[in-house]
Formats: sequence, structure tokens, C-alpha cells
Amino acid sequence: MRREMMAILFVHLFGAHAVSGQAKLSVKWEELTAADFRQAIEQSKGACLLPFGILEKHGPQLPLGTDLLNVRYAALHAAEQEYAVVFPEYYFGQIFEAKHEPGTMAYSRELQLKLLQETTDEMARNGCKKIMIVNGHGGNESLLPYFAQSQLEKQRDYVVYVQWGHDAPRGGPPKNDALDMHAGQTETSTLMISHPELVHLDRAASESGADQTRLKLPDTVYTAIWWYARFPNHYSGDGSVATKELGEWNMKNWIGVIAESIRAVKADDASLKLQNEFYEKSKHPLDTRP
Ligand SMILES: [Zn+2]
Repeated sequence: MRREMMAILFVHLFGAHAVSGQAKLSVKWEELTAADFRQAIEQSKGACLLPFGILEKHGPQLPLGTDLLNVRYAALHAAEQEYAVVFPEYYFGQIFEAKHEPGTMAYSRELQLKLLQETTDEMARNGCKKIMIVNGHGGNESLLPYFAQSQLEKQRDYVVYVQWGHDAPRGGPPKNDALDMHAGQTETSTLMISHPELVHLDRAASESGADQTRLKLPDTVYTAIWWYARFPNHYSGDGSVATKELGEWNMKNWIGVIAESIRAVKADDASLKLQNEFYEKSKHPLDTRP
């Protein structure tokens, strides 16, 4: 109480600006005041992150929001290293293949694209001229590049970037899960770092995450049921062999890759220029000459 009163007195004496000017700006969009948001956009040079998760089953041992929880942990820590404004929880992606499992939120494809477009449009209207979607969900692997490609449909005054995961560097703790695609060793280990209290490691072996190989098609032919055919439990790999060491290694690497991507996006002054040049030419293609 006493402290609060002193803080109020301080604000009255020195003004709210003096207080907010001294404080470190939050990277979280929802934690900024309107005035601080203006400053945050300036500090981030218009670079904003949209960490993209999903709500879906993650084996028998991990929570439904695993992708959302992990990607937000990684993105928030990366933005602390290289300042960027981070949009609140977003999980309206492609997940039709898990509709048979409890807790899956599978929005229609029309809404997925419409909501994402309106979200980036609104972010850009608020000064986010460089929007980096940080993907945390494997099922978005077709949606997000398509969304980014379709930005060329008509002129926009901002650039959409898709930050796509991270390759494991050489070395690091041993990995013995050969499949490791969904709720397996790596993902389970990573949640042990972001939200250890939500990992039920003792349940990880209670279901099979083995490949059922129920579809016989060549690699060059795609069909939607492939995932269900291989992994009907919506579990691929073996989460029971997860370790905190592997999680630490993976998360540190992921954060580093995102921070590096933020730096690259901030330094990129070519994309928007080329986009504008392209839109201009698109208005009169017959004038385009080599
Ligand atoms: Zn996942």
C-alpha cells in the first residue's frame, strides 16, 4: 500500500512519461499502454511477431496447447534479445487431421485465411510494416507459405515473412527417437523447458506413436488422409525418452534462430521496395520489358 502511494505520488510529480520512459518496454502487445505502443513500434522499427500455435492433441502426455506454449516461449525470449512487438495468443490454423481427437479447434479454411489477413492488415495499420509469422505448428506447412504468396494478390504497404522452425545444430544431447514428428522426444523435451509442470512423462508410453504405414502411395502423390493413415493416435514418435538436456539445447537454438531472423527482417530494406515495384508493373504488364 505504502509503495503504491509513493508510486502514485511519483507519477504526479514527474509525470507518467518520465516513468514509462525509464521502464523497459514489454515485448507483449497486450501489456503496452497506447503511448508505450507508439514507442515500441519505433523501437522495433516496425518489426512485429505473430507466433502461431494450435489447439490439438499432443500424444497422451502433453497439453493441447503445446505448439502455442512452445512457440510463444521461444518468440518472447527471442524478442527480449532483439526487440520486437509480439502479438497475443494466436491459434487459428490448419488442423483438420486431428478433428477425431478431443479438444481440437479446427476453424474453416475460409476463416483461417480471412482471420489471418485481417490480423496482419490490422497489425500493419498500427505500424507493424514487417510482420514475421513465427510458426509453431507442423500442420501449417502449406497454409503459411500460401498465405505469404497470396500477399502479392494486391498492393499492401507491409511485408509478411514466415519464420519456419530451425535445424538442429551438430552436437548436443543424444536423440534416440527415430520418428520424432509429433509429441515425440524433441517436442516433449522442449515443453519440459517452457512449461515443465504440464508434461506427464509417465503417460508417454501409454499409447503408440509408431508409424502404422496403412497407405501405399509413392512419395510423389499427396492425399490428405496420409497423416491419419500413419499416426491414428495423433502421436508420432516416443515422448517417454524426453530429457531436459535435449529440451534446453533445442529451445536455446530455436530462440537464437528467431532472434537472428528478427535482426534480418529489421535490416531488410529490399522486400517492400521490390513489392512496390512489382505492384506498379503489374498494373500494366504489357509495358514490362526485360
Ligand atoms: Zn506440436
